[in-house]
Amino acid sequence: AIEIRGLRKSFGANEVLRGIDFHVERGEVVCVIGPSGSGKSTLLRCVNLLEEPDAGTVRVAGAEVTGPEVDIDAVRRRIGMVFQSFNLFPHLTALGNVALAQRKVLRRGRAEAERIARENLDRVGLADKVGAYPAQLSGGQQQRVAMARALAMGPEVMLFDEPTSALDPELVGDVLGVMRALAEEGMTMLVVTHEMGFAREVADRVVFMDGGVVVEEGPAARMITDPGQGRTRAFLSRVL
Ligand code: ATP
Ligand code: MG
Repeated sequence: AIEIRGLRKSFGANEVLRGIDFHVERGEVVCVIGPSGSGKSTLLRCVNLLEEPDAGTVRVAGAEVTGPEVDIDAVRRRIGMVFQSFNLFPHLTALGNVALAQRKVLRRGRAEAERIARENLDRVGLADKVGAYPAQLSGGQQQRVAMARALAMGPEVMLFDEPTSALDPELVGDVLGVMRALAEEGMTMLVVTHEMGFAREVADRVVFMDGGVVVEEGPAARMITDPGQGRTRAFLSRVL
């Protein structure tokens, strides 16, 4: 469902992505791991065109997002993204936050948007928090509202960029639990994470990036317990 070929991106003289190739099949969960600065966030941002690639192609659900006549808004509707920071509107309730993009982007009416918002807040375990404002929610709950907001758009794929890195340790499990449930429902997911337990248990495949290239990829269990490359082993020995 996601196909990345020859993807390159520089910022000035800093070549951040140096020819990235890999794919995520429909219904597959792929985790991207790698050191700080290796280009993981830039890779995700190129998939939904928050950054414009310099070269290469990205296809999502059969449509080339890097094509010349791409409708960026249409592409973004098909791709849900969850970041480290939740970016909720503080003056809107959980329900309001989840309904807003549906109304603005998908032009759903208030009643439909709120019905779908409730369904998705329920899906992330927050049925009892629909009326709460972000300041009344824990970081983990806010992140789950952000997930409900993305899911309410009916995306074909979900991108996650270190969704638990900003959370207190005791809140990480709830967010990973929702991601695990999504994976079990068959959602196509590309996840940048430092949570090796999650990667080992939930991912189908793990991609190790360093210095703007894919150094190695393979089945999650093998990549984490018995990687083939020295660079992967050195990274894992630092994070495990
Ligand atoms: P981390 O694990 O710390 O999140 P990362 O693997 O996600 O790291 P990126 O955020 O993709 O790394 O950054 C890769 C490189 O690109 C870094 O050297 C960074 O400084 C640079 N970079 C990223 N975004 C920009 C930008 N908008 N302008 C200039 N340089 C950028
Ligand atoms: Mg990053």
